Amino acid sequence: MDTVTVAGVTVDTRHWIGGQRVSSADTFPSVSPIDGEHIADVHRGGPVEADAAVTAASGAFKDWSRWTPQERAVVLRKLADLVEENLEPLAQLETRDNGSLLRSHRRGVMPRVAMNIRFFADFAVEQLHHPVWETRGHENHVSWDPSGPTVIITPWNAPLMLATWRIGPALAAGDTVVLKPPEWAPLTASYFADLTHQAGLPDGVFNVVQGFGPEAGAALTSDPRVARICFTGSVPTAKLVAKAAAENLTPCSFELGGKSPTVILDDADLDLAVDLAIEQYDNAGQVCLAGTRLLVQESIADAFAERFAERASQIRQGDPRDEETQIGPNIHLDHVARVQGFIDRAVVDGASIAYGGEVNTDLGPHYFRPTLIRNAPAGSEILREEVFGPVLTMQTFTTDDDGLELANGTDFGLAACVVTGSRDRAESFCKHLVAGTIWVNCFFVRDLAAPFGGSKKSGIGREGGLWSFDFYADVKNTVYAPNGWNKDGRNEGTK
Ligand code: NAD
Repeated sequence: MDTVTVAGVTVDTRHWIGGQRVSSADTFPSVSPIDGEHIADVHRGGPVEADAAVTAASGAFKDWSRWTPQERAVVLRKLADLVEENLEPLAQLETRDNGSLLRSHRRGVMPRVAMNIRFFADFAVEQLHHPVWETRGHENHVSWDPSGPTVIITPWNAPLMLATWRIGPALAAGDTVVLKPPEWAPLTASYFADLTHQAGLPDGVFNVVQGFGPEAGAALTSDPRVARICFTGSVPTAKLVAKAAAENLTPCSFELGGKSPTVILDDADLDLAVDLAIEQYDNAGQVCLAGTRLLVQESIADAFAERFAERASQIRQGDPRDEETQIGPNIHLDHVARVQGFIDRAVVDGASIAYGGEVNTDLGPHYFRPTLIRNAPAGSEILREEVFGPVLTMQTFTTDDDGLELANGTDFGLAACVVTGSRDRAESFCKHLVAGTIWVNCFFVRDLAAPFGGSKKSGIGREGGLWSFDFYADVKNTVYAPNGWNKDGRNEGTK
């Protein structure tokens, strides 16, 4: 079967290469985490499909790269409009495929998908002014030129949102794209491919190769024709991608995992602190930015813990399609087992489970209960490694300096959240925290113009606004000699 109807939405399960649907001999199953139902057999690409997609993207680049930013923006704005018109099928499909909340997809995630496309198309037109200045009479020009075929590899926790946050600027910059969506939630990428066609994107400008990382992903990242690789995923996989890219010196942008702190100072508004801490369970903890380490100043720790436990006990876990549900399932049974493994080892290490710590079997094997771990010994795995499930830890500290040391005490540096009533204390923390993004008394506010990325092992590079174009484009400096042009059109150069 080349098409399948999922949640009332018909989607093609084949690859999208060079403006055509392409089959593979093998398929892989897509299983819904909501109820474990096998919802689709998706065509499974490898080196052959990867080669075809990079060939298509290379061929299309010659023409697409010569379109003006204005011409590209016309098609990309149309694509954003189509995403908005298809918001409901996209939301339904994504929820069925990856188990995230339907209401989040409807109200936040899918509108953001459209914004990812429109914002960068507009940015290329309105903000990428080519600066010109003079150096000893010479004219300096700077331009952001298209760079070539770009491979984008994404994880399953927010598949289409994370993909379009790269597809938007890459296409707006004049690159062509090959997307490798995640094997645990591949379906919206295929639906999106149809929208790119309807929008009028020329054949080969956008391609989708589905499949597993070691097969399709490895083939794409080792192709010497690829000009840019944008990878979002885990640190171990990033090391494999970096090795493959190193062979060809292909520039990479890495957005990786986190173990971010939520620092709650003793002058914080406790209600706000509890609200922000509870938010860290969003998407069943499958959020790279989640501030999963609650670091609470000793003098308010008991009061905070009491209110937090009360609120956590009221969290409604259930079917992500229900409007009332706050936390849905985790993506895959292998992932649930991985989360359980972290909890079991934490207990062996001496930590205690304040609540949760197991699957909610009333709901099904994918629904790991919201969990809080306390008393984990310093340096233990649960305090160092990313769990990527609904698991928070709580630690206390006495002085602000101690809190800062705890906050910076992992190999990650993606984000941090600081809750305090004092601007001075906030500024002092923010100055010394090592993180790509810091929120003070708020969480998850993300402006597409702002830089985004991770410090330490959380990533390499920044994207967002101009930072995206600095990566996807080839930034060029052209210098004209000062002597003017003779009547034959030749410049006499610097003498
Ligand atoms: P993962 O690293 O297992 O897989 C990510 C993608 O890489 C998938 O599409 C996979 O097929 C592909 N892949 C696997 N092996 C590959 C290889 N050898 N070559 C090329 N591609 C390969 O990660 P995951 O489990 O899908 O996602 C969870 C991780 O993603 C977490 O660590 C999370 O923090 C991170 N993440 C980071 C951000 C961010 O913006 N920093 C956003 C979301 C998720």
